[in-house]
Amino acid sequence: MAENSLLSSKPTTPVGRLAPSPTGAQHVGNARTYLLAWLSIRSRGGRIILRIEDIDSPRVRVGAAEQAVDDLRWLGLDWDEGPDIGGPNGPYVQTERVELYRVALARLRCDERVYPCTCTRSDIESAASAPHIEHEGPIYPGTCAGRAAADAASLGDRAFAWRLRTTEVPREYTDLVAGTQRVNVKQQLGDFVVGKMDGSPAYQLAVVCDDHAMGITEVLRGDDLLPSAFRQIELFEVFGWIPPTFAHVPLVVGPDCRRLAKRHGDTRLATLRKEGVSADALLGLLAHSCGLRPTQAAVSAKDLLTGFSLGQLNPSPFVFDSRLLSPK
Ligand code: GLU
Ligand code: ZN
Repeated sequence: MAENSLLSSKPTTPVGRLAPSPTGAQHVGNARTYLLAWLSIRSRGGRIILRIEDIDSPRVRVGAAEQAVDDLRWLGLDWDEGPDIGGPNGPYVQTERVELYRVALARLRCDERVYPCTCTRSDIESAASAPHIEHEGPIYPGTCAGRAAADAASLGDRAFAWRLRTTEVPREYTDLVAGTQRVNVKQQLGDFVVGKMDGSPAYQLAVVCDDHAMGITEVLRGDDLLPSAFRQIELFEVFGWIPPTFAHVPLVVGPDCRRLAKRHGDTRLATLRKEGVSADALLGLLAHSCGLRPTQAAVSAKDLLTGFSLGQLNPSPFVFDSRLLSPK
C-alpha cells in the first residue's frame, strides 16, 4: 500500500511537443504558438519533443522541415528529442513512423471501429444538412456506416477512405485555455477519416498514435484545431490510451481579422530574419500580444520562463500588422 501511494504521488514530468507541418514556411502565427507550447512545458521543468508532421505528402515542400528547425532555433526554442538530435522515442518524422499507424489502423478494422467510405466530397456536401462548426466542412451524414470493415474487399477498384464510427455521447473536456468544451462527436463533427485505402493514416490517427507513443502529456496548439481535440479524445478512448491535456490558443490574425495568410504580406520567419528583425524583437512583440509583457520590448524566450502561466494569456486573437516590427 505504502509503495502504491508513493508511486501515485510521484509528480509526472510534463512532456510537450512542437509539431510543425513542412507544408510551407513557418510564419509569425506559428512562432506564437510554438513559443507558448515551449513556455508552458519548460516553465514547469518539462521535456519537449520536436516532431515533423509530413504525412500530407502532396502539400509537403522540399526543405521546409529543415527550415522549420532553423526557425525554431532562431527563436531560441530548444527540445530534448527530435529528428536532428535523436532520442528514445524516435523516429521523429511521421513518414518514418508509418508502420505504427498501419498497425493502429488494422486494429480499428479488426474491432469494427472503422468502415470503408466511398463518398466523394460532393456526395457529402449534397447529403449533409446539419449545421456544422465553422471551418470544419460538412458533417458526414453516415451514408456508408452500414458497411463492415470486411466489405472493403468487395469494393473492387472503387476508391474509399476508412472512417471512424464515432459515438453518440455528449463529451466534455476542459481545455487549459479555451475552458470547458462540449460536443456530441457523432452529431456535431460526424464520423471522420482516419486512413486511406492503402492503409496510410490521416492526420487524426497519426497524431494520436504519436502523442501516445511519445508520452505527450500536453498538447498546445492553435484554436483552429479545437474541434479535432474531440476526435482525438475519441480515438484515445478507442485504443484505451490516456489522452493528454489540451490547450488551444488564439490564432494570429491579419488586420481584416482573418487568420494570418499570404494575403497579409510576407510574415515568414525566414523573411523577417533576412530583413534584420531580431528573434528577441519578434518575441517581445509576441509576448506583449499574449499579455506576458507590458510592452513589446525585445526579450528572449528564456527570459519569459520565470512566472509564466497559461492563465496570463490574453484570450483574444492577436491582430498582426508588419508595421509593428518595423524599426522605429
Ligand atoms: N502539424 C500541425 C500544424 O502544424 C499541428 C498538429 C497538432 O498540433 O496536433 O498545424
Ligand atoms: Zn461514405
